[in-house]
Amino acid sequence: MKYCRFQTDAGPQYGEVVERAGTLWIERLLPPFEEDPWTKLASDGFEPVPFATVKLLAAVVPSKIVCIGRNYREHAAELGNEVPKEPLLFLKAPSSVIAAGEAIRIPSLSQRVDFEGELAVVMGKRATKIGAEEDVRPYIRGYTIVNDVTARDLQKSDGQWSRAKGFDTFCPMGPLVTDEVDPDAGLALETRLNGEVKQHGTTLDLIFGVAALLRHITAAMTLLPGDVIPTGTPAGVAPMQPGDRVEVTVEGIGTLSNPVASSQ
Ligand code: MG
Repeated sequence: MKYCRFQTDAGPQYGEVVERAGTLWIERLLPPFEEDPWTKLASDGFEPVPFATVKLLAAVVPSKIVCIGRNYREHAAELGNEVPKEPLLFLKAPSSVIAAGEAIRIPSLSQRVDFEGELAVVMGKRATKIGAEEDVRPYIRGYTIVNDVTARDLQKSDGQWSRAKGFDTFCPMGPLVTDEVDPDAGLALETRLNGEVKQHGTTLDLIFGVAALLRHITAAMTLLPGDVIPTGTPAGVAPMQPGDRVEVTVEGIGTLSNPVASSQ
């Protein structure tokens, strides 16, 4: 199933997205995530609406965003880093999340802000200490796309990454969540800046796959429904400027497109 989160007169809602004759429609409203306090179910009588006409919201409201650094060999190399021996975790501020279509704001504090197109896991169930032999799939709600926007200069000068990865608008997410794809089977990932292809990878090249990541993370911290795990970015990261448009496409999910603007 595919679903999105979008604005209605009754407030934010989750809706099932279906394809009919080549067009995506929001077919029906869905119950909210158990631990998402911001969404209430609307009254019945919902009429299907074309997906392209609604104001999308970020596909989930995460309690935390647990990112993976250097999870593609060529990306680690392009920034002069070693491939990690175990997954390298960092947290991205939930307040940095924006929806597809919203503007990434370049802060005046940074001279270099990069895109990082990534496949992201969306949790569906609370997960603690997932066992080595345990199937991780029942914990996964689906997959979406994240642009792990990074102030590259501050990432280096700060010595750790909280500020560089955590500015407001630095986590575009969406446009929808789907459980109809399998990263282990290989999903093509492409990032375009103003239409020019900058990143072209496949999830087959992930150093640590989804199951290994979820085991590693939940050995340390409980993942809650709606938590998001961006799985790392392939080679080809590059800076963005105000006026640009950045698009991340993941096979079977869709395209996350955001304009870039200066800070306000
Ligand atoms: Mg990243």
